[in-house]
Amino acid sequence: MISLQNQIILITGASSGIGTACAKVFAGAGARLILAARRLERLQELAANLRGEFGTETYLLQLDVRDRLAVESAISSLPNAWSEIDILINNAGLSRGLDKLHEGSFTDWEEMIDTNIKGLLYLTRYVVPGMVKRDRGHVVNIGSIAGHQTYPNGNVYCGTKAAVRAISEGLKQDLLGTPVRVTSVDPGMVETEFSDVRFHGDSDRAKKVYQGVQPLTPEDVADVIFFCTTRSPHVNINEVVLMPVDQA
Ligand code: NDP
Repeated sequence: MISLQNQIILITGASSGIGTACAKVFAGAGARLILAARRLERLQELAANLRGEFGTETYLLQLDVRDRLAVESAISSLPNAWSEIDILINNAGLSRGLDKLHEGSFTDWEEMIDTNIKGLLYLTRYVVPGMVKRDRGHVVNIGSIAGHQTYPNGNVYCGTKAAVRAISEGLKQDLLGTPVRVTSVDPGMVETEFSDVRFHGDSDRAKKVYQGVQPLTPEDVADVIFFCTTRSPHVNINEVVLMPVDQA
């Protein structure tokens, strides 16, 4: 197992769910964290908690990953002490609606494609060159079981997560010959704000998603990500699918 002490880890979508859980696990391991999301007040609260509990150093980025120029500027203007990112966790993502494709909302589609695919690509494009130059690094993309199974009305979300899988594999191929690692972590149902966001705040509909299933917790996913990022440098875990025991 390698140490993450003083490693610089950039987590997108750190203001909630899996991203917040990752921040806590990595903070506990002594990492320095760049926390990115749109809701700055959430990041500030998380940073204060991590500082209090673990003495963690954080750098906050209020960032919409859909905005390519904002991503470019955020990464290129990191202070020197924060610019050498060791691990990138491409976690920001969402699902909107659960509608038949021929009845779906263009706005929902664009939001999913722009966040889940294009946002992940922008971060990767601006962060990975530094990893290649420094001969070290690890990119962890949060995919989903939705990238393996297409469920009824999942159409566009499943498409974005299938794209994440393909992009992770493509990046892995492109980085062969360098020590930079690439992992796709693909969970089944995780209880976070994800379902509320999916149904635009309709929490009754959101709760029904978990009926009959004990969902994963964000900490379950963060534990797996921690495991993947702490293997010996010659070990690359390409892909992990983790599911609730009772989810088909
Ligand atoms: P949450 O809704 O709890 O968290 C989503 C995070 O993404 C938030 O921090 C949000 O921050 C951030 N985010 C969304 N849009 C943007 C944007 N445009 N720019 C920057 N940040 C953004 O959901 P989860 O923690 O569950 O989701 C994390 C990842 O896990 C997603 O990629 C999701 O697809 C994936 N996943 C989730 C599953 C589940 O059942 N929950 C199952 C499988 C995969 P903010 O709003 O502050 O910008």
